[in-house]
Formats: sequence, C-alpha cells, structure tokens
Amino acid sequence: MTEKQWLIFQFKTTHEAAFALNNYLLACGAAGISTIDKTELKKSFRKNYSPDVIAEDFLNNLDYEVVIEAYFPVYSESLLQENKTCFLSEDNFKVEINQELNLAITEMEKIAKQRISIAQFEMKIEKSLARIAEFSDIGEGYTGYRRIKTENWSEQWKQYYHTHKIGRIVINPSWLEYSAQANEIVLNLDPGSAFGTGEHESTSLVLNFLSEFDFKILPSGPILDLGTGSGILAIALAKLLPDAEIIALDIDPHAIEVAKANSVINSVDNIAFSTGELHMQNQKYSLIVANLTADIHLDLMQTYKSKLISGGYLIVSGIIERRAAEVKAIFMQNDFALISEKNENDWLSIIFHI
Ligand code: SAH
Repeated sequence: MTEKQWLIFQFKTTHEAAFALNNYLLACGAAGISTIDKTELKKSFRKNYSPDVIAEDFLNNLDYEVVIEAYFPVYSESLLQENKTCFLSEDNFKVEINQELNLAITEMEKIAKQRISIAQFEMKIEKSLARIAEFSDIGEGYTGYRRIKTENWSEQWKQYYHTHKIGRIVINPSWLEYSAQANEIVLNLDPGSAFGTGEHESTSLVLNFLSEFDFKILPSGPILDLGTGSGILAIALAKLLPDAEIIALDIDPHAIEVAKANSVINSVDNIAFSTGELHMQNQKYSLIVANLTADIHLDLMQTYKSKLISGGYLIVSGIIERRAAEVKAIFMQNDFALISEKNENDWLSIIFHI
C-alpha cells in the first residue's frame, strides 16, 4: 500500500455559500470534499429515522451550518528524498493545485498541476472567499488546515461515487464502465478533476429540465450557459444538441479554462467559451441557462430580456426557497411568463418564456 500525505483545509460557512465554495475548491483540484450540512442532515434524520432526541441534540449543537473539508495532495522534496517528515517545517510542504491555465487546451487528459506553498494557497482561498462574500453570507469562512497520512485514500474515496442518472442524462465517473441506452447522454466526470459532480440540487434541477426539454420549440439562435463553472450544463447541452451553437460564459477565467478541459475530456466541439459578462455580449440567444443566485438573477433581469430572442426561454437556478416568491413575482411583473418550476430540498429552478 502506498502511503500519501494530504492537507485538509476546513471552512465553516452557510448553506447558501457552500455551493460556490465547493465549486471553487473543485476547480482548484481538490481530490475530495466532505461536507457536513446541518440542514440537510436534519432532514435526512427526520426522513430516515424515528424522532431521535439525541440526534437532534447533536445537530443543534453543531456550531456551524455547514462544515466543508477539502483534501489536497501534499508534496515535499525532502519528504520524497528522506521519507521523513517529522522535523520539517511547514514551509517545506507544497499544496498541489490545478494550474491557472492561459494556454489553449488541445489534447489534454488532465489539467496541469502546480505546487504552491500553504501560505500562498491560503491567500488564494481568502481572495476567493471575499468574492463569494460579495453575493452571500460566508459565515466564519476559512478556519485552518491539518495534515494527515492515509493509505490509499485516493482510491478509497472512489467507492462513494457512483453512476448517477438525472432523467436521460447520465453522470459517470471515468473509472466505471457504462453502456448508454438509446436516448441517453453520458457526461464523463471525475470528482477529483475539477468537474462539478452535478450532485448539487441547483445543478441537477437544470439537468432535469434539460433532460425533458422539447428543444424544437426554441426559436433559432445560439444557446448560452451563463456562469458555466466546470462547464457541466454547456457540455450536457452540447451532447443533447450536437448541431447547436452553445456559448459558455463565466466571469472567472479559471472556470473557463477548467470548462474547456472538461469539454475536451467529453469530446464535444460545439461550445464556444468566453470570459465576461452578459451585457458585454453582442448576440442574442434562443435559450439562456443560468445557475447563479437570486440576487444575481434580479440584477440581470433586464439584461436577460435584452439578450433573449423574442420567443426565447430562460432557465434560472440557484434560487434558495426563501427568495422564491420574490424572484417569481418580479420576473412575472416584467413580462416573463412562468412555464415550469421544480424544487428539491431548499432550492428552486424556473423556466421562463419571453
Ligand atoms: N453552471 C455550473 C456552475 C454554477 S456556479 C453548475 O450549474 O453547476 C456559478 C458560476 O457563475 C461560477 O463559476 C461563477 O464564477 C459564475 N458567475 C457568477 N456571477 C456571474 C455573472 N454575473 N456572470 C457570469 N458568470 C458569473
């Protein structure tokens, strides 16, 4: 068995910010992420067990809404040379993260890695948290790291990931064989290689809509995935509609590089990627899918309107339940017709027509 060292970075945050933070950590190349979400745990305790005072008590005493721990491989020259680590100072340890790529990705199997010091990584983390804090309450934020040794952990965590179907969209980890049924499309993804797993409700709700959507009703014109992140929705669209022109846009250049790499892994070539904002685009779209937040959707509402072809559709997601009524009312007062809505746990996704 191979023994490997890992650095575990811990965050205490809110239900709302957890999604963005998870996405960021995956994009950095976390080999695994464990999330303890008090709200989700409470629900599953209620669903699966008889009322259990001790469990409720335990949950009420958890000090934070969500605790996230992200695992990164640790690297040290001296560690490799001497196989001894106990006398090394922390400066000797490097975190292995995904490189922020500016190069064109052609035949890339894996995203290039870079090794940076723990302190440098902590600075990156703080910067990203500050960005997330612009649109959601991040709670306590980053709380520190610890180092562990585990045998074959990188293999062990694979047992927790399975093939996972959302309608006719199948998300399959690369180490599993899957033969697609007629009508199914398969997205290849590895949780450790910077691809959102589609397990977050706000992503799976959109995948669900896309799986059932009758694309024949769309006016002709390109389709936009706004805030593409890992590219999961753009790649699903590209596979569902191989002849369509798909645009994947994100304000974060790093996300765009990751999404490009994932499109190569998934062998799709009908996506045009770009970094920027919706108002800067000079074309109109037949369909816009946007998994963002309630506040961002409200800010962008007029821009959505001006960037949709008449008769076009808008799928918004990432709306937390307590903001649902407000978002629906404001969109409907502004000429958007509500076609369909789906919710899962605390999250809502809506299809609008203009
Ligand atoms: N579409 C993916 C990722 C959603 S995370 C999924 O469904 O899983 C949201 C993404 O939107 C992040 O990558 C973030 O960088 C990006 N984003 C946030 N605000 C944005 C804006 N105003 N315009 C474009 N992208 C934005």
